[in-house]
Amino acid sequence: MKYREFEITYNPPPISDRRFDYEFSHGDYDGPGDSRSGTAASYDQAKEFIDEIIRELGYLDSCPECHQERVDPDHKFCDACRHLRLGDHRFERPK
Ligand SMILES: [Zn+2]
Repeated sequence: MKYREFEITYNPPPISDRRFDYEFSHGDYDGPGDSRSGTAASYDQAKEFIDEIIRELGYLDSCPECHQERVDPDHKFCDACRHLRLGDHRFERPK
């Protein structure tokens, strides 16, 4: 099931805890460290979580790290924050 930019799949693990029955991840999800994925107990709850992630990251809008610069939808962070996260300290975070 597709919701916004996320794909939601029903994939219940063989445990009694139902909180992980639905998995969701963004179409551009790029592995551990990318917060655009998660699990939920229902399809509706997954949609709520996705709305939250989109609000929190605002990844189509402002940089989730400095909340200042607008970010190209292809990238998660602005240029400066992206380089800083990679350990390149020639860049300064926008103030
Ligand atoms: Zn930034």
